[in-house]
Amino acid sequence: MRVLITGGAGFLGSHLCEQLLKQNHEVICADNFFTGSRRNVLHLLGNPDFDLIRHDVTVALSVEVDQIYNLACPASPIHYQRDPVSTTRTSVVGAVNMLDLARRLHAPILQASTSEIYGDPEISPQSEDYWGRVNPIGPRSCYDEGKRCAETLFFDYRRQYDLQIKIARIFNTYGPRMRIDDGRVVSNFIVQALRNEEITIYGDGKQTRSFCYVDDLIEGFIRLMNSPPNFTGPVNLGKPDEFSVLELAEIVIELTGSRSSIRQLPLPVDDPRQRRPDITLAETKLGWFPQTSLRVGLAHTIAYFDQVLSAERKTTASV
Ligand code: NAD
Ligand code: UDP
Repeated sequence: MRVLITGGAGFLGSHLCEQLLKQNHEVICADNFFTGSRRNVLHLLGNPDFDLIRHDVTVALSVEVDQIYNLACPASPIHYQRDPVSTTRTSVVGAVNMLDLARRLHAPILQASTSEIYGDPEISPQSEDYWGRVNPIGPRSCYDEGKRCAETLFFDYRRQYDLQIKIARIFNTYGPRMRIDDGRVVSNFIVQALRNEEITIYGDGKQTRSFCYVDDLIEGFIRLMNSPPNFTGPVNLGKPDEFSVLELAEIVIELTGSRSSIRQLPLPVDDPRQRRPDITLAETKLGWFPQTSLRVGLAHTIAYFDQVLSAERKTTASV
């Protein structure tokens, strides 16, 4: 099959490109490099089944493909708040453009949605039938409401045009190829620990998250895309173990053997207090369950950042 991946040069997108190429599909990766990078897919550029195009999803795109994965959107709070208007535009106008393309091609389309749909939830764990508690006018709203509107558009295209849609609600996923300056908690803590710098805990560190390793998530994406046409989701994809941010910091310090101490900084506005997926639906409908423990996934990620940081040190030393 020929597959389009928008946001394919980002963290998750680059792993998806790699995995689909391994499965002998042709991949077209479309990205405007807002947070993604050509470096993430450099190793794929020589592959005749791989195409990379610089493209912004807020502009219509015409390609001939059999499936579309719509991942284009900055995912880290510091990056999606950098240009909030563009974040909403990417989610909403980008969704319309990709849905129109899917409609013309009669192709199934998968949306990378998010646990942010649930906002700061009053129930735990969160299952797909929970409508969420989202502030519509806060600094996170450009992302949360953009993604919520994209879900609405996906369902309206299904109801109105009988389009084959798939919606994955992704919970915090981490792994190699996150940016050093990504700003999300796992990459921040690992980079700080490896540099023996202070680990920045926002608030009291008692807020919780559930962390999924990238390989497991990609497996979930592919299973969802290839599930029966009548299965649309939304379906939660995440690892249902819950850790406080402080616990995560302690594990990272232990695994890196770091001398870092902990520094408390103010909690960002509207930072959700807890987050844990109920993944019964993914288990039942997709036979999917994330296999990688937090410690094993962190070890792979630490090895990756260790390599990136030592390459950076060598470059600085030779200048
Ligand atoms: P990322 O920032 O590494 O990747 C996003 C990619 O989209 C980047 O390559 C960026 O350059 C590209 N992009 C942004 N705006 C674009 C536009 N207008 N046109 C074309 N490309 C554009 O983040 P990620 O973690 O890989 O996230 C990928 C997707 O998964 C996002 O849609 C995100 O909302 C969703 N998601 C991720 C997580 C997670 O924990 N990683 C959780 C929930 C949802
Ligand atoms: N966080 C933190 N220190 C950091 C980065 C993040 O304490 O250096 C906290 C953040 O306040 C949130 C949690 O870690 O409570 C997860 O943040 P992240 O940005 O990774 O993703 P979110 O789930 O908030 O979108």
